[in-house]
Amino acid sequence: MISQNVITVDGPAASGKTSMSRELAKNLGWQWVSTGAFYRGLAYIVEQEGVDITSEAAIVETCEQVSWSIEMASDRTKCHYKGADVTDQIYLEEIGTVASKISAFPKVRQALLQAQRDCLNHVRGLVAEGRDCGTVVFPKAPLKVYLTARSESRAERRVQEQGGEVSQVLEAQRARDDQDSQRKAAPLEVPAGALVIDTSAMSLEEVVSKVETKARELFSQMVSRD
Ligand code: C5P
Repeated sequence: MISQNVITVDGPAASGKTSMSRELAKNLGWQWVSTGAFYRGLAYIVEQEGVDITSEAAIVETCEQVSWSIEMASDRTKCHYKGADVTDQIYLEEIGTVASKISAFPKVRQALLQAQRDCLNHVRGLVAEGRDCGTVVFPKAPLKVYLTARSESRAERRVQEQGGEVSQVLEAQRARDDQDSQRKAAPLEVPAGALVIDTSAMSLEEVVSKVETKARELFSQMVSRD
């Protein structure tokens, strides 16, 4: 008996999580959320508010007191801050770097946890991607996926999407991955029982198809048949 209609997709920066999980959700007729948007949104707001990013307490206070929200959508998980749509801004690589720094604080992670779990309320099913979706956010997920890829492939992928220099992106991603996997609170790690896929030499279609086949076996009653 399946207890939760949720699939988690974790992995390092630019491992193909977003493209894969978004496409998978579309094919299944489910919702999709990038949990990184919560950390990116808060990182952006903390910067805008001039908060000291080394102060865990100040970041948590900002998270709780400033008006902001994350909204699921089929193409990009959105962020609103004081009534304005700041989605474009939160996906910049420099905001990813700040997000990675503030996400190391346990109380910051705690402050964002319930809102991530709430994404599963009132939806037919959810594909949730991030770093700790299978280990912390949805530990009971019936299907957990961990995507990985060679760092060069990941940097090239990001440059194709957003522009920039491969060497610089590679360096920023390495710093972020080290930070994400070495932190004490909910580090990036392969969840127990996860389906691990190295996407370096695979097309998006191949990765989606592999996970979708597994998902359709497991969740046969709860997915779209189109
Ligand atoms: O996935 P994305 O690159 O948007 O995530 C930005 C940053 O947010 C990551 O580098 C990581 O530090 C943090 N994050 C996290 N836990 C998640 C999702 C993202 O710590 N579940």
